[in-house]
Amino acid sequence: MHQEDIFKKLTAHCKEYGFIFQSSEIYDGLSAVYDYGQYGVELKNNIKKYWWDAMVLLNDDIVGLDSAIFMHPAVWKASGHVDAFNDPLIDNKDSRKRYRADTLIEDYMESLNQKVEKEVAKASRRFGEEFDQDMFRKTNKRVLDLNERMETVRKRFVTASENSDLKELRQIIIDCEIADPVSGSRNWTEVRQFNLMFDTKLGSVSEDASTIFLRPETAQGIFVNFLNVQKSGRMKLPFGIAQIGKAFRNEIVARQFIFRMREFEQMEMQYFIRPGEEMQWYAFWKEKRMKWHKALGFDENKYRFHDHDKLAHYANAATDIEFDFPFGFKEVEGIHSRTDYDLGQHQKFCGKKLQYFDNELNKSYVPYVVETSIGLDRMFLTVLAASWKEEKIKKENGQEDERTLLQLPPFLAPVKLAVFPLVKKDGLPEISQKIRNDLRFDFTCQYEEKDSIGRRYRRQDAIGTPYCITVDHQTREDEAVTIRYRDSMEQERVPIVKLREIISEKVNIKKILGSL
Ligand code: ATP
Repeated sequence: MHQEDIFKKLTAHCKEYGFIFQSSEIYDGLSAVYDYGQYGVELKNNIKKYWWDAMVLLNDDIVGLDSAIFMHPAVWKASGHVDAFNDPLIDNKDSRKRYRADTLIEDYMESLNQKVEKEVAKASRRFGEEFDQDMFRKTNKRVLDLNERMETVRKRFVTASENSDLKELRQIIIDCEIADPVSGSRNWTEVRQFNLMFDTKLGSVSEDASTIFLRPETAQGIFVNFLNVQKSGRMKLPFGIAQIGKAFRNEIVARQFIFRMREFEQMEMQYFIRPGEEMQWYAFWKEKRMKWHKALGFDENKYRFHDHDKLAHYANAATDIEFDFPFGFKEVEGIHSRTDYDLGQHQKFCGKKLQYFDNELNKSYVPYVVETSIGLDRMFLTVLAASWKEEKIKKENGQEDERTLLQLPPFLAPVKLAVFPLVKKDGLPEISQKIRNDLRFDFTCQYEEKDSIGRRYRRQDAIGTPYCITVDHQTREDEAVTIRYRDSMEQERVPIVKLREIISEKVNIKKILGSL
């Protein structure tokens, strides 16, 4: 199936099964804002728990925080967001579509890269086992040409971005003959800067009201509380502060469903360290965060690092963990070495010392910071994209059928267990409900009695429920039920008294946390 079709199906699936709805849909929706439905909120909470436990529960040196969305306006002046949190935008005069100039150029470079990979794959097929990939990359004329073009554009792009040279960004688009991906037109406007922060007014009397911003990242709430946490928690360097919370950005191009939203959630951890040790901790967190992603058990080839050419104003090293979405490899998480930029700036703007006294070195300094920053909604999309499957299956009568399933890791599934009475009579509903009531304190359980068993299985497959049990007439005699496994569709007879133990073991987050 075409990747675009998969993405369309995935989005439709989210709505049909209560994972994600467009915000204010009855009023035709609000662009790039989404609501999480009954199963979406459960899955989202489970992802949050996985992140929170991996950060706060497992690490003695990391503590949590929940800071406010509204902050003093000076915070955003100090952090550089008022002056520099801009995206370069460009409009196509024919299609009237708006784009980020940097994204157009990055996509162009990626298309050259794809061409190189195609050449390599073609040659590999042609030469078979004899194929020397390194040699081919170093000598093939077309590959060399493409790489040279890519390198030239990359150099111009990095310089233009670092100097905020908007004219040059436009010139690159013109020189590379980059066309509007929708209309194919090359009729572009000038490039303009656009600040991504939303503002609002604080105070009831309009003359006194001051402009404040909706935070575009949760990190600043951590920085301004650095000393509060360090002192009240008697924390010693290195230590980290973790936070999950909403962030807001007035994104220029907000397409691709929950990948780019105007209101979203971030899970960020700032790790405070001695100056000079940042590269060692940067490498440490890079590896640790990749391990967290891969521990979910999805295809390992779907993840890669993408080291930044163009560094943000505060960073001295940065990488993205990218995931292979149906629309290509894109960032899910950023790992940044932020130096002492943020604390240093706040120290300057607030006029108070934000320093740490290091007993071992017997001196005070502004700590350096390595940050891990992941979008919860993007992570949600990663999990959905990796778990969604359409499968052909054989029914019991031998006929072919199809099912759609979410092959979620059991500990993430919104519903862990569904309990069905085979029929709606003979006391089977009562037994089923008793089982559900006994287990509901251990994990999310659902009771369903409508429709055939087959249809009930399909509904549970579609929301990713890993285990379904059926209560039948025999249950009344042998106190046992049939458990059916989502992925293999195999069935097994198990005693009711064993259910808690069997399922708890399978859905427990402990095993995965233990592997980190
Ligand atoms: P992008 O280049 O995609 O705009 P970014 O580099 O600006 O992202 P960061 O500022 O590093 O993103 O934010 C950290 C994380 O927050 C990102 O890795 C992403 O998962 C998430 N994120 C950022 N912007 C959005 C958004 N508009 N919608 C959803 N998630 C987002």
